[in-house]
Amino acid sequence: MIKYNLKCENKHEFESWFSNSKEFEKLRLKKLVECIYCKSKQIDKSIMSPSILGKDERKRKEKPIEDLKKVQKELAKLRKFVEKNFENVGKDFPREVRNVYYDNRKNKNIYGQATSEEAEELKEEGIEIASIPWVEKSEN
Ligand SMILES: [Zn+2]
Repeated sequence: MIKYNLKCENKHEFESWFSNSKEFEKLRLKKLVECIYCKSKQIDKSIMSPSILGKDERKRKEKPIEDLKKVQKELAKLRKFVEKNFENVGKDFPREVRNVYYDNRKNKNIYGQATSEEAEELKEEGIEIASIPWVEKSEN
């Protein structure tokens, strides 16, 4: 999703969300974008704000989209690496971590989910775990 600040011929300013810049151009050419105040169809982009809507629905404005894409790519690589080299134990993660940690014969790499309380408990027991940002695989 991309947010545009729009301006009509009467200088009314308003914002609208579009799935991408092409969609906006298409709708504008078909005169399907109209001013929310005066219904004018002479609409132009005002200043484009590179905000994106994350999955958590919080707007992150601090990063330009291009940078963000680069980071996403890196994170996707990280995810691949983890999936290849670590065993997914899902929600059993805290229990599995203890199994591996306290059983010296066990030596395996695992990953999974832990709540922040669980992570805190593990830390108190001296077990260091790392949390990594997890990105969705489906990119474009
Ligand atoms: Zn207007």
